[in-house]
Amino acid sequence: MAEEIADAVTAAPGAWDALAGHGRTKARLHALLREERTPHALLFSGPRGVGKRKLAAAVAAALLCRSPKDGLACGGCESCRLMAAGTHPDFYAVMPEKSGKAARSIKIEQIRALRTEAARAPRLSGRRVILLDDAETMNDAAANALLKTLEEPPGDTIFILATGARQSLLPTILSRCTGVHFSPLDDEAMARVLLAHGVPESLLGPLAALSEGSAGRALRLYGEDAIALRENAMATLEALPKMTPEDVFSAGDRLGAMERERLLEWLRYLRLLLRDFLAICGGSGALLNADLEARLFALSGAVTEAWAFGAAREAAETARRIETSNASARLALEGFFLRAGKTI
Ligand SMILES: [Zn+2]
Repeated sequence: MAEEIADAVTAAPGAWDALAGHGRTKARLHALLREERTPHALLFSGPRGVGKRKLAAAVAAALLCRSPKDGLACGGCESCRLMAAGTHPDFYAVMPEKSGKAARSIKIEQIRALRTEAARAPRLSGRRVILLDDAETMNDAAANALLKTLEEPPGDTIFILATGARQSLLPTILSRCTGVHFSPLDDEAMARVLLAHGVPESLLGPLAALSEGSAGRALRLYGEDAIALRENAMATLEALPKMTPEDVFSAGDRLGAMERERLLEWLRYLRLLLRDFLAICGGSGALLNADLEARLFALSGAVTEAWAFGAAREAAETARRIETSNASARLALEGFFLRAGKTI
């Protein structure tokens, strides 16, 4: 995690061009940088894991560079060197912190420290850049403290807020920022990111299907062996119509031994597969698991559309029970297999 953060708030030379996708967003930001019209507060919003933080670091590098080329960071000056090392004195990043059992959040003390930083004169570059990541995790006290700074911005400071949940920010904060929207990555951009991280080509399709345009999510799933988990769900779906009671108990044992989070993910894949099966039955809609189309289609020889509806409902209910109660996962799954098997 520490590595990920360090990586995310540095901007290596060429970071701008290296960032995949977001053609229009980058063009708009580039124009602002080139014409030196960057507003004092930007709000990057859009899905998680699409590169908002990386682009924010690249914008910061451009704004701080001592000899920008066409508005972008030169990659070679002292400022660019320090941005790449993550030690630029005029760049300050605020991230949510974990404290005890509470969810990660940006606290008022962090905003106070940010205000002190924002008030200081730049040391190396002509201005300061402050990044506030996961800005929606500010509590109200923190948000109100930030608002004061945004209302009376120190002249030399540019703020970049990034959020995956724009709707959770105070309207007063939204109104002080210039919005920059990020879309989910398209397949081509996603492939570029995944290949750069050493993901084998054969997994690009399945990972793209599971991650809804978020490269961060795709890489996390790759690390967690999500493809194997989905394959397990697909194989179970294929076996479900002909399960004997012994099969039900052994499947319950096997899956019930999984970690809770992984089991919930497994149920999620099962539901996505059933959703695709129903899309095939209905003759409409693009499949999320397009790479499994032939196997999903073959299921229609064994089960009906009504069965798939029932099984999807049962899977959702089982996930809910496992998530919200201390019910034994094994028993909940056995119940699921028995009921889902019966409705065929
Ligand atoms: Zn430079």
